[in-house]
Amino acid sequence: MSRPQVTVLAGPTSVGKSTMSRHIRENHPEVTFSVSATTRAPRPGEVDGVDYHFLSPEEFDRLIEADELLEWATVHGAHRYGTLRSTVQEGLDAGRSVLLEIDLQGARQVRRTMPDAQFVFLTPPSWEEMVSRLTGRGTESEEEQRRRLETARMELAAESEFDVTVVNDELERAAAELLSLMGFDLDSHPAE
Ligand code: 5GP
Repeated sequence: MSRPQVTVLAGPTSVGKSTMSRHIRENHPEVTFSVSATTRAPRPGEVDGVDYHFLSPEEFDRLIEADELLEWATVHGAHRYGTLRSTVQEGLDAGRSVLLEIDLQGARQVRRTMPDAQFVFLTPPSWEEMVSRLTGRGTESEEEQRRRLETARMELAAESEFDVTVVNDELERAAAELLSLMGFDLDSHPAE
């Protein structure tokens, strides 16, 4: 494969970023997945150190003060999330390609500090598909649905800031495209 590098995967809310990164984490151990720090509580089934490093707000503050985060952001106006510099550096030092699945604010920060990274925008196959993913569960009020759609419209407009777009039409196909962009030749590195 080519030179190890950092790949940043971002995209609008509910496009399927976390499903995609879980798929890659579980099937492609050749990729170093950056486990983020977060102040949000674990959801059922999530494991500390695997899905996230679950931290208290004070612990997160300490990481910021010690400049140990490559980027961080408050996501959805609620909890803080950040990428540990050490994870990224250790991956690169070991000659591995590193994948960061982060939000748009974080991607913009990495763009400033690591301009050589590769920036991949994950997008839904169509606006209609996006609307149905956002409203499909039917658990939110109309007002909440309108707010989410407005956010999604703004987030989709960020596509032009990215180096390349991957359409999340089908998980396996889109993941294969991402891995190929990261320099993995899937024929010679088949999934276990
Ligand atoms: P969730 O709480 O559903 O796991 O993630 C919420 C959002 O946080 C997602 O959009 C995800 O991309 C983003 N996120 C996860 N880790 C990081 C990180 O380290 N930095 C930033 N900026 N966003 C992150």
